[in-house]
Amino acid sequence: MPVRRALPRRGRRTVGAWCFADHMGPALATKDHGLDIGPHPHVGLQTVTWLIQGEALHHDSLGTEQLITPGALNLMTAGSGVAHAEEATGQYEGSLQGVQLWIAQPDATRHLGPAFEHHAALPQIALTNLDVTVLLGEFEGVSSAARRDTELVGLDLVARGPTNLPLRGDFEYALVVLEGSLHIGDDVLEPGNLGYLAPGNDELFVDATPPSRAMLLGGVPFESEILMWWNFVARSRQEIDGAYDDWRNRDNRFGTVPSSLARIESPEPYWREPS
Ligand code: MN
Repeated sequence: MPVRRALPRRGRRTVGAWCFADHMGPALATKDHGLDIGPHPHVGLQTVTWLIQGEALHHDSLGTEQLITPGALNLMTAGSGVAHAEEATGQYEGSLQGVQLWIAQPDATRHLGPAFEHHAALPQIALTNLDVTVLLGEFEGVSSAARRDTELVGLDLVARGPTNLPLRGDFEYALVVLEGSLHIGDDVLEPGNLGYLAPGNDELFVDATPPSRAMLLGGVPFESEILMWWNFVARSRQEIDGAYDDWRNRDNRFGTVPSSLARIESPEPYWREPS
């Protein structure tokens, strides 16, 4: 499946607490093949799986089994440790496209236990030439019920022409275009680009031609420097080493995931002595 990585990139590790953004697909899914991501662990972050087309099946070490469909938010909190898999549904055939996002957890919550939330209905707002779905946080007076550990916002945008996006002056923002293109001043953002906007803006004028789909991710600049290695978000190499060892040793920290797919092994962190 083709993947476009918008975040992290050189010189830009986080936008608010958002620390990872992959645009997956479009690709053709069959009954037995789709995302096909076998059991793997996470620590110190929340994952958001947001589908634009298609279906997938989520399994995790909390015992969750959840069908993922377009328009529903699936938010998994890793905290001290969780494992999950994303598989074909056994039924859906057709185009598959979506976004995989990670949110770094602050020190206040990153050592607590894991959790999973599914939100089938999310607030929607129509502005001039713009339909907005509020995945996380608050926008134009409406709030998503989804958990958030820091001040942030995550929006799905469908834009059909010139529009004015209201922003928060204390937030920094990233625009990730999924379909079409967005014109901002003299810049054109297309799929594969990351548009970054520093704090200090109350609005952003955007023109979309042809009709375009994008994610707007924002938040208060994150409290700490993060260290991201493989599927782990931490603050030090020692913490990463601990998560690496625990996954390799099948420690209870990550539980077990019922899945037909093979478990994914971690590459060895480059700073470790060969054992
Ligand atoms: Mn994952």
